[in-house]
Amino acid sequence: MEMPTPDAGIMARKGRVVERLQAVLPKDAVIHDERQTRAYECDALTAYKCPPMAAVLPASTREVADVLRICHEEGVPVVPRGSGTSLAGGALPTADSVILGIARMNDVLETDYENRTIRVQSGRTNLSVTGAVEENGFFYAPDPSSQLACAIAGNIAMNSGGAHCLKYGVTTNNLMGVTMVMMDGEIIEIGGAYMDAGGLDLLGLICGSEGQLGVVTEATLRILPKPEGARPVLMGFDDNEVAGACVSDIIKAGVLPVAIEFMDRPCIEATEAFAKAGYPMCEALLIVEVEGSEAEIDHQLSLIMKIARRHNPVELRESKSAEESAAIWLGRKSAFGAMGQINDYMCLDGTIPVSSLPMVLRRIGEMSEQFGLKVGNVFHAGDGNMHPLILFDANKPGDLELCEEFGAEILKLCVEAGGCLTGEHGVGIEKRDLMGYQYAPQDLEAQMAVKDVFDPGWLLNPAKVFPLSASESRRRLPMAAE
Ligand SMILES: Cc1cc2nc3c(=O)[nH]c(=O)nc-3n(C[C@H](O)[C@H](O)[C@H](O)COP(=O)(O)OP(=O)(O)OC[C@H]3O[C@@H](n4cnc5c(N)ncnc54)[C@H](O)[C@@H]3O)c2cc1C
Repeated sequence: MEMPTPDAGIMARKGRVVERLQAVLPKDAVIHDERQTRAYECDALTAYKCPPMAAVLPASTREVADVLRICHEEGVPVVPRGSGTSLAGGALPTADSVILGIARMNDVLETDYENRTIRVQSGRTNLSVTGAVEENGFFYAPDPSSQLACAIAGNIAMNSGGAHCLKYGVTTNNLMGVTMVMMDGEIIEIGGAYMDAGGLDLLGLICGSEGQLGVVTEATLRILPKPEGARPVLMGFDDNEVAGACVSDIIKAGVLPVAIEFMDRPCIEATEAFAKAGYPMCEALLIVEVEGSEAEIDHQLSLIMKIARRHNPVELRESKSAEESAAIWLGRKSAFGAMGQINDYMCLDGTIPVSSLPMVLRRIGEMSEQFGLKVGNVFHAGDGNMHPLILFDANKPGDLELCEEFGAEILKLCVEAGGCLTGEHGVGIEKRDLMGYQYAPQDLEAQMAVKDVFDPGWLLNPAKVFPLSASESRRRLPMAAE
């Protein structure tokens, strides 16, 4: 994966830049020692590493504004960082950049149960937003599997989703407003604690903008009353394609489960060895969960089970208790960790129309043979968001490159099937060079023109999202300070 050559002129100014940052932040909030900046050398796409020139940990919107103003004046690229769980390399630094981490900004600022909103600092972790309101019977719906660690800022930047987003939507459907600092240090408010703002939908633009347009410091989020109850059912099939067809039929029938999750045999075997959730050994598993009153749950599940029976499941296990529900979810929630125990893996994130699931799964199986690399499939099947996990050996020369080539072929297949390159993990560096496969040059130009408006000097996370060749002339704009 190519990254731009670091700017030697910027690196030569490191001393002055650090001094200026130290003048506006507490001493322990500016990290510049080379041993310590290593802590920020990668995110969860660990195949790529590069320590930043420095890292800063501001504790308020004002401090973020001061940092950005200084970096803007000094012409230093800034990579915003939440918790560093991006699987797309979104928070990967360059050697001439400053990492701006918002982990110290994690307070709840306001909770309004009557109007069902919460305002938080953006470094607050996803799960702790629900943690702040659950005693009062509320929850925050988007639930990435990384929710214990990932921050609301990263969720907004990547427009993150999760298992329960089939019913509740992804981050953009649950975000009402943000405070954002522009690259020159100006602080702006977009949206707020109301239904929809007038004018252009700037909030829609910010959500999913991958740290390219500004640094989000606060967010107003929609919270929802907890459902009366929820019940999952575990379905086992002796064929991937049959499981895929079952998903397609459930969606076609117009029932709306809160989640439909899919795991194939390699994932089932890995998670059983790791988490011992009691899954049956079969080719494919579905976890289908519905919510509501007991009567609603019974009604929805009876329809879903009827559809499943038409596909001759080898297992159909409806949860009868909270313990059984937890056991059904245990394996799914441990799947990434379990695959990581076997070997290094690259987690992909393409989307496809639900009806193409059987065809796409078959093709991935064929490609796995061709490339000689094993793949485990675990994903949010209800909304067609696939997460093939390709196993490779980072210590074996050439394996990473082979894995990347295989991954690119899978993502191209998603686009050919009528889907897109990313469902929830974002583009980052991982899919940057494939953007030209999905978008025509004029489409990319239109997207880059949006960045031009927010960040004319292309200093915010500049080497991400757009193919380097497409963004090159913009990234080389001369900066004021030399
Ligand atoms: C085991 C595992 C499971 C996962 N499961 C899911 C899942 O189910 N669904 C899902 O959607 N994702 C999932 N992810 C991916 C990841 O957790 C999400 O992309 C998450 O939203 C990243 O949040 P973060 O705080 O870690 O952001 P980071 O990794 O720190 O950064 C991600 C991006 O956000 C930008 N950014 C960070 N802070 C700011 C800010 N203040 N302002 C502007 N931009 C900012 C960064 O520059 C970067 O581009 C998973 C990751 C792992 C490791």
